[in-house]
Amino acid sequence: MPEKKIFKACKNCRALVPLETATCPICNSTSFSEDWSGMVIIISQDSEVAKVFGASTPWRYAITVK
Ligand SMILES: [Zn+2]
Repeated sequence: MPEKKIFKACKNCRALVPLETATCPICNSTSFSEDWSGMVIIISQDSEVAKVFGASTPWRYAITVK
């Protein structure tokens, strides 16, 4: 399933960013993993999904990061 490998996931906050990104735009971490699965899009930080997921910034996030 190579199609998801246009993104890598931040190991700190699980934000998904393009592979060429050097620094996480959400938490400024520089630690990423290409071994992730599932994606959730947070549109509002006030949504129930964002609260359950612990996301503070609207973004796309990986559900699992290894
Ligand atoms: Zn991050």
